[in-house]
Amino acid sequence: MSEQRVAERGFYGEFGGSFIPEDLQKVLGRLDEAFERYKDDPEFQEEFRYYLKEYVGRENPLTFAQNLTQKLGGAKIYLKREDLNHTGAHKINNVIGQILLAKRMGATRIIAETGAGQHGVATATACAMFDIPCTIYMGKVDTERQALNVFRMELLGAKVVAVESGQGRLKDAVDAALGDLVDNFQDTFYLLGSAVGPHPYPTIVKHFQAVISEESKRQILEKEGKLPTAVVACVGGGSNAIGAFAHYIDEPTVRLVGAEPKEAPTMAEGVPAVIHGFKCLTILDENGEPKPTYSIAAGLDYPGVGPEHSYLKTSGRAEYVTVTGDEALEAFQVLSKTEGIIPALESSHAVAHAIKLATTLSKDDIIIVNLSGRGDKDVNQVFDMLNK
Ligand SMILES: *Cc1c(COP(=O)(O)O)cnc(C)c1O
Repeated sequence: MSEQRVAERGFYGEFGGSFIPEDLQKVLGRLDEAFERYKDDPEFQEEFRYYLKEYVGRENPLTFAQNLTQKLGGAKIYLKREDLNHTGAHKINNVIGQILLAKRMGATRIIAETGAGQHGVATATACAMFDIPCTIYMGKVDTERQALNVFRMELLGAKVVAVESGQGRLKDAVDAALGDLVDNFQDTFYLLGSAVGPHPYPTIVKHFQAVISEESKRQILEKEGKLPTAVVACVGGGSNAIGAFAHYIDEPTVRLVGAEPKEAPTMAEGVPAVIHGFKCLTILDENGEPKPTYSIAAGLDYPGVGPEHSYLKTSGRAEYVTVTGDEALEAFQVLSKTEGIIPALESSHAVAHAIKLATTLSKDDIIIVNLSGRGDKDVNQVFDMLNK
């Protein structure tokens, strides 16, 4: 791409930016303007809050994991219950926010990419409620592996396009969605699913997911009268983690800990590179291409990561640890048995690290674990893994 242009704004240290062709740059420039205009607009805020409350079911609880805490004998563990949101995960927060923005921009059609299907389902859900037609791009290979999620999206009224180009995976779905956006930007809004992509998407997604830490901070101060020692969240693209961290970034006493899968160790082993139009820590193969990863948690299977996480790591403000699939699988079962809460396999990575961390801390310490989603979707897979 010789037409690359780097946006002046949207950088987190050396990371982020916007490395995309000129025509797409213009479209995202419009999005940036609209976001800046509406993000603090009281009417927009009020509408966002309304749907978070009445449709998503916020605010969700900050549950004290009493049994798990007692069993470990260390820090107090609290769970931020994103699993209790409508559709069972944090993704809907961002979807609602971006659809409201799309409406303000006059869009009459929504498009989105999806890998395993979770963002596609959240988007299809909210588009049904807002009565906006939506098209979900999904790699052909992924549509075959996640046939039930394809059916869910169709049930919700979405059109699912199986992308056959490339390897038929998430990257190809993103390329197809960006192509659609360039062709149809007059009436179409591209609803991106994680804190990744070219500017302004990482900023937008953080803004809408920040409700997680806005609530948890208020809740922990009410319950404990002090801030937590640490906040732990799993990291795929990084949207639930950046939302869980946002209101603590300027609280230097609070440790921010991201847990990534050992099988997709972007933070641990990645190098700065451009992927999907932005710069971040990325795992590359010997040819300098993003390397396919494999995590048991489909939502964490991404060779890149949000630019702000890349920056929080290199600046030292946040710590990132790796958790193996086996450790996550164990944590999945431990939380189910001790608390009666089945966590998503993605969230189980955060739970697994919190279990390790709690035993190294004292009873006066507090850990908030962001429980990004519920595990009902993973029960079949775990059944197969445990019966192997
Ligand atoms: C998609 C997903 C994730 C990973 O995405 P992030 O953008 O890193 O938050 C984590 N947990 C659940 C339950 C998910 O559905």
